[in-house]
Amino acid sequence: MTKAREEINFSIAETINQKFDNSLLSCFQCVKCTDGCPLAFAMDIHPHEIIRLLLLGLEERALKSTAIWVCSSCYTCTTRCPNEVDVAGIIDYLKQEAHTRGIVNPIAHDVHKFHESFMKNIERTGRIHEPLLLASYFADRHIMKSRYKKGLLKDDIKTGIALFTKRRMKLVPDVFREKR
Ligand code: SF4
Ligand code: SF4
Repeated sequence: MTKAREEINFSIAETINQKFDNSLLSCFQCVKCTDGCPLAFAMDIHPHEIIRLLLLGLEERALKSTAIWVCSSCYTCTTRCPNEVDVAGIIDYLKQEAHTRGIVNPIAHDVHKFHESFMKNIERTGRIHEPLLLASYFADRHIMKSRYKKGLLKDDIKTGIALFTKRRMKLVPDVFREKR
C-alpha cells in the first residue's frame, strides 16, 4: 500500500518570518536548543526538529506534535540559540495555531484545556483568577473523570480549601482594563 503524500505548506514559516525578528532560515541545526531543553526527554519531536519541520513545509506534523504542549515556555532554547531564533516564542505561536485550527494532538488534551482556560481567564479579567481558571478547567468532563479515577480530585479540593482559608485565593476577581 502506498503512503499518502504529506501536504507541503509554508504558511506558518512565512508568518513566523514576518512576526519574529529573526528568520527561521538562520537556523543551522546546531541542536543547542534541544541540548538545553529540560523537557526534551518527554517530547515526541525536539525543538530543533520543530524548526526543521517548519522549514520543510511539514507544518502539520509540528502542529500535531505533543512536544508543543509539553514545552513549559522556560525560554532556555531561545537564550541558547547562537542565531537568536526565538524557539520558545515560535512554539507558543504553534500552540495557538493548533488550537485555532482544531488539530491538537488528543494525547495533549488536558494541557490544551488548561492553556485554553488560562487564555480565556486573561482575556476576561486581565490577570489570573485561580477559582475562575479551575472552574473552567474542571468543567471539562474528561478532565474531571480522569482526576476522579486517579484519586486526585479530593486532593484538589483539599488544596483549594486550604488556599481559601489562608486567603491565598480571592472569590471575586480584580478586573484590569487597559486605560484609554
Ligand atoms: S539553537 Fe538555534 S540554530 Fe541551533 S538548532 Fe536550535 S534554533 Fe537552530
Ligand atoms: S521553552 Fe520549551 S522547548 Fe524551549 S527549552 Fe523550555 S521547555 Fe524546552
